[in-house]
Amino acid sequence: MLPIEVVQGDITQFKVDAIVNAANSSLLGGGGVDGAIHRAAGPELLEACRKLGGCPTGHAKATPGFGLPAKYVFHAVGPIWRGGNQDEDQLLASCYRECMRLAQELNVKTIAFPAISCGAYGFPVERAAPIAISVIAEGLKHNPQIERVYLVCFDHSAYQAYRKALTCLQGQDAAD
Ligand code: ADP
Repeated sequence: MLPIEVVQGDITQFKVDAIVNAANSSLLGGGGVDGAIHRAAGPELLEACRKLGGCPTGHAKATPGFGLPAKYVFHAVGPIWRGGNQDEDQLLASCYRECMRLAQELNVKTIAFPAISCGAYGFPVERAAPIAISVIAEGLKHNPQIERVYLVCFDHSAYQAYRKALTCLQGQDAAD
């Protein structure tokens, strides 16, 4: 069984080694999950983000979690949905890959992801979920230190899409 769990909730409450932020390329805060993370972490997070000098789409950068229960925040910049032919799938996959790489670098054992790009950035969650889960599953093969990955869905439609994608992948694994 893959150590991946789909849960509904508020990612800022998760007591894990790292939570992932769906940031924008300025890394200077925004709405949605980004705003919630900055509010919960406190002003030191914005100070730390300022020093990072932004982040290109498809990449991720780490900061401490400051006032959050999580030790680190991985700020990943997802693609804005532009219809599906502008490398959105590859850029989204790259975000998850980069976070798994940071997890390895920082010896993270537990990590929680939001549905990157599936809010204000408009990426359809039914398309994003299988991408997220397959990249995470692949990353787990190279990250034996990771004990648990949480996919934190804020709304029920995201929860359902992620559950479906996970069941599908587990079915494939069982058939292999
Ligand atoms: P993006 O700009 O990358 O689309 P958003 O923050 O607008 O980022 O949305 C990404 C996903 O995060 C959406 O599915 C949204 O419902 C969800 N979300 C918003 N707030 C939270 C939160 N506190 N915890 C977990 N997920 C959240």
